[in-house]
Amino acid sequence: MGKIICIDAGHGGTDSGAVGNGIKEKDITLKTALKAGEVLKKQGFDIVFTRVSDNYINLGERCRIANSKNADLFISFHVNSAGNSQASGTETLCFEKNYFAELVQKSLIDNLGTKNRGIKERKDLAVLNGTRMNAVLIEMAFISNFDDAKLLKSDLFIDDCVVSVAMAVCGYFGIKYKSDGEKGDSEMKKSINVILNGRKETVDGYFADGKNLFTTDFLRRLGFSVEYDENTKEVIVDNEVKNIEVIADGKKETVEAVFKNNFNYVSLRALERIGIIKVDYKDGVVYVNSI
Ligand SMILES: [Zn+2]
Repeated sequence: MGKIICIDAGHGGTDSGAVGNGIKEKDITLKTALKAGEVLKKQGFDIVFTRVSDNYINLGERCRIANSKNADLFISFHVNSAGNSQASGTETLCFEKNYFAELVQKSLIDNLGTKNRGIKERKDLAVLNGTRMNAVLIEMAFISNFDDAKLLKSDLFIDDCVVSVAMAVCGYFGIKYKSDGEKGDSEMKKSINVILNGRKETVDGYFADGKNLFTTDFLRRLGFSVEYDENTKEVIVDNEVKNIEVIADGKKETVEAVFKNNFNYVSLRALERIGIIKVDYKDGVVYVNSI
């Protein structure tokens, strides 16, 4: 039998949760939960929701739903809030530190680029102590922080949260996360912070199979010229992996690329492999240096 994931959209109905910067927690959590259900269903999991509309469900009922359906994992989405508007970042709460919580937090931080607030044990939270399966409560970002709230308003950020969590769930069960070529581009497109030869820039990217991919336009900004094979150029198949030629310092190299939305997306790791750049990844920021 398939694994059952219980997805809990925090708050709802008369309980709006935290409010700030023009948004309400209950709306963000519902949107995220519904998308997470959709994405996890495509990965082959059975989904149980605690709510699918803007209604109030008490905490005991949320636990009862998860327990009665024998869910294998319980994932609760929330957004954080603090009196200090400087507070920002992402954290994962759990009853006791465990491998699943670690995977979730790591996946979120790797993909979101938000401040890593770590994993926190919270034995007092009803949905964590009343559920019998491994349970996490994800505080995606701070509604009370201007920059975090801007992220929470962005569908791209919500999509990234959802994909991050789905990848952690797949990882937990030892299943390879399958990115879906039929999904709209917005599902995976994202802005990626890059330190380019010491200068911080935000570039358009694409997230698939756990890799950050960039447009070849980004390569030109790195000072490399990019050429396409005349034959393959005419074969435009969505999401098809193909080899493209990169002219790096006059030397022709072949790297794997994905053609999507009229751009070739190339993995920076592939460029590192052929020795034209050095890539480091730390705290959600990609550091790229010419060699
Ligand atoms: Zn909340």
